[in-house]
Amino acid sequence: MPIYLDHAATTPLRAEVLEAMLPYFSTDFGNASSPHTFGRRARMALDEAHERIAAQINAGPREIVITSGGTEALNLALKGAAWAGKARGHRIITSSVEHHAVLHPLQHLEKFGFEVVSLPVDRYGRVDPGHLESAINERTILVAIQHANNEVGTVQPVAALAEVVRTKGPKGCLFAVDAIAGAAYLPIDVEAIGCDLLAIAGHKLEGPKAAGAMYLRRGVHILAQQHGGTQERYRRAGTEDVASAVGLSVAFELAVAERVETARRVRKLRDRLKTAVLAVEGVELTGHNRDRLPNLLSVVAAEADGAAIVTKLDLEGIAASVGSACTTGSTEPSHVLTAMGYPDEEARGAIRFSLGRTTTDAEIDEAIEIVPRAIAESRAAAAVLAADPLGQGVATA
Ligand SMILES: *Cc1c(COP(=O)(O)O)cnc(C)c1O
Repeated sequence: MPIYLDHAATTPLRAEVLEAMLPYFSTDFGNASSPHTFGRRARMALDEAHERIAAQINAGPREIVITSGGTEALNLALKGAAWAGKARGHRIITSSVEHHAVLHPLQHLEKFGFEVVSLPVDRYGRVDPGHLESAINERTILVAIQHANNEVGTVQPVAALAEVVRTKGPKGCLFAVDAIAGAAYLPIDVEAIGCDLLAIAGHKLEGPKAAGAMYLRRGVHILAQQHGGTQERYRRAGTEDVASAVGLSVAFELAVAERVETARRVRKLRDRLKTAVLAVEGVELTGHNRDRLPNLLSVVAAEADGAAIVTKLDLEGIAASVGSACTTGSTEPSHVLTAMGYPDEEARGAIRFSLGRTTTDAEIDEAIEIVPRAIAESRAAAAVLAADPLGQGVATA
């Protein structure tokens, strides 16, 4: 089996999670809105899923809206907050390193007259709360900043940013957090952070794909983006996917219960790989050295093509990534590295390794044998090509 070092793209479904989901594909197939025994069984499972998810983030079960994934949770939070706040203003503030599931809904809102301000980040991908303080004004209705970055792993000072929204923002200005990338590794307490909206996704924490949740603070009003039945307290119409909801809730509960131990073990493995990879000439770490996800190693290799290295690694049995899985196939350099000040030719050499709970010592031993050599060879090949692009050879002189 190849070694999977791309847990930031998605994680394998955990056995206990699959087990918990299975009855809802067979015997317990009821519609949670039906008033009979079948429906009640589904309703009980769905209620329990809300309770479980809420308990992991210090929220109440009524503050949880279960969605068809992280992207839907973010679309609902951002568009719902924007349209509900339109009468008070049209300014939305975000950062330049957000996931496309935040950037693109906000770009869409721009077409309807909302003004989107993108805060800069430093060399390590961090947003400065001082910049938010300068950008926030009387017309600001929403601020959306991620908890951790999915490409470079940098953790944002979300509590300090929330404090700026609370003390400098106008009344009713909401703070939304994309907590999807770090949910298995960072403690999430919506009261400690002080956010109004927050999104998580199942498949980044060994749960099912197309299962997500949005936290919506009690008393905060947003506009539903999908209309039909009365499900999820009118906030998300459509017959609920009970199996997915159960899977997400069980996966999240297990991840949180084991978080400290998993983070400790995975960080040690990541640091071993990091030492080996950074020993290669011309390779340097991207993102914050200390305030970063414990499972993520992101680098740039000078004068190299990250995509070529990832292809070479795949042939040698290692699954890594150039950055975000969602932008694979695009030839554009990562907007995250661009925002961090990397020129295009440096950003081209980006490679991301993301470990998971199931990553073993033996896998990292093997990766340490393969990865540094593959990067060095790929760089050497690129250098030869650059010196002799037509392949005519230089030995004939
Ligand atoms: C994966 C991811 C998303 C998108 O979630 P999906 O469940 O894949 O739709 C959004 N934001 C971040 C930071 C992510 O890592």
